[in-house]
Amino acid sequence: MDLYEFQARDVFETHGVPVLRARTATGPFAAGAIAEELDVGVVVVKAQVKTGGRGRAGGVKLARSPQETVDRAREILGMDIKGHTVRRVMVAEGAEIDQEYYFSLLVDRGERSYLALCSREGGVEIEQLAEERPEALYRQKIDPLVGLDEAAAREIVQAAGFDEADHDQLVNVLVLLGKVFHDEDATLVEVNPLVRTGSGRIIALDGKVTLDDNADFRHPEHAAYHETGDGGPLEARAREKDLNYVKLDGSVGIIGNGAGLVMSTLDVVAYAGADLPGSPRPANFLDIGGGASAQVMADGLDIILSDEQVKSVFVNVFGGITACSEVARGIVQALEMLGDRETKPIVVRLDGNAVEQGRLILADANHPLVTVVDTMDDAARAAAELAAAR
Ligand code: GDP
Ligand code: MN
Repeated sequence: MDLYEFQARDVFETHGVPVLRARTATGPFAAGAIAEELDVGVVVVKAQVKTGGRGRAGGVKLARSPQETVDRAREILGMDIKGHTVRRVMVAEGAEIDQEYYFSLLVDRGERSYLALCSREGGVEIEQLAEERPEALYRQKIDPLVGLDEAAAREIVQAAGFDEADHDQLVNVLVLLGKVFHDEDATLVEVNPLVRTGSGRIIALDGKVTLDDNADFRHPEHAAYHETGDGGPLEARAREKDLNYVKLDGSVGIIGNGAGLVMSTLDVVAYAGADLPGSPRPANFLDIGGGASAQVMADGLDIILSDEQVKSVFVNVFGGITACSEVARGIVQALEMLGDRETKPIVVRLDGNAVEQGRLILADANHPLVTVVDTMDDAARAAAELAAAR
């Protein structure tokens, strides 16, 4: 799970990483009040969305008074940045920037190791720097059993070519960022820019932290981050029901059993919809797993049908240990449980163990909104056409 910048800032602060004072607001006047309280010459108003490039999109603006802060916040709130609507801004003390650097620490799965990346040329997008001036981006493998200790930090700071005078301060900050990475069970800690101010202080001005959800059980305090998740209310409801659900942007709701099958279903639906009017695409990822009881099916359908963007639903099940007959019974019971809430057409494709019985059960139920289609490609096409037609 990715954290918002303000959450990353808070985590940094907890671990002693130098950051600037800041608070968040969801309305322009509250933003102005924060500026009043910070009581500094310049504040920066920053869109809180889980995507980079906010600066370039106009989502990071300086303000010189509380009134200006209100105005800037009003401009930024509601703005769309790469498909993310800005619902919250962070108002922070303005930094007087002398230099912008880059630092990140991440899990390098391919190498079964950690990797630290560091550059004196920060502020720009790192992919761009890696492409255009790879020599300016220093990389160092970090032994996961040791972590980013002082020796490793010193090596990085020297190799990246920072000024001698800043070494001690930078080493200190890097070690603290390594602590954040380790103690919070992060898979990424990125600071861009890490700045040197006019007065020579090193400060983390923007932070991106990705937490390893598999370690959530060790961090009850991380639960709070889920509630403000980007997926919004549907993902929150899915989590309550223990469903493996990810909201996407399209109009074809997807339910399948097994992550691999669901992923290929997304591809097939996107392909089937590509040349239809409005190019319908998948609305979500939802893996109901092997068991696929009626209750799980009903919970899954309920969430998908509550998604206002959904126009049709594709249930794609391959019967293995759980036979198609059971899944079909699950679908029928789920439809009974949902009753009037079921208002969108559903295309079902069943295959595998006990497929004939499964299809018979659905045919018997004869639900007016359910269509059974034999192959995955045809079913994807049918679901995409239904979405395109509505
Ligand atoms: P991003 O574009 O989403 O990565 O957002 P950042 O938080 O990194 O901000 C983008 C750029 O805005 C930074 O690289 C800085 O150049 C500038 N910026 C951010 N905060 C401040 C600030 O407090 N003072 C000044 N002068 N510039 C800032
Ligand atoms: Mn940044």
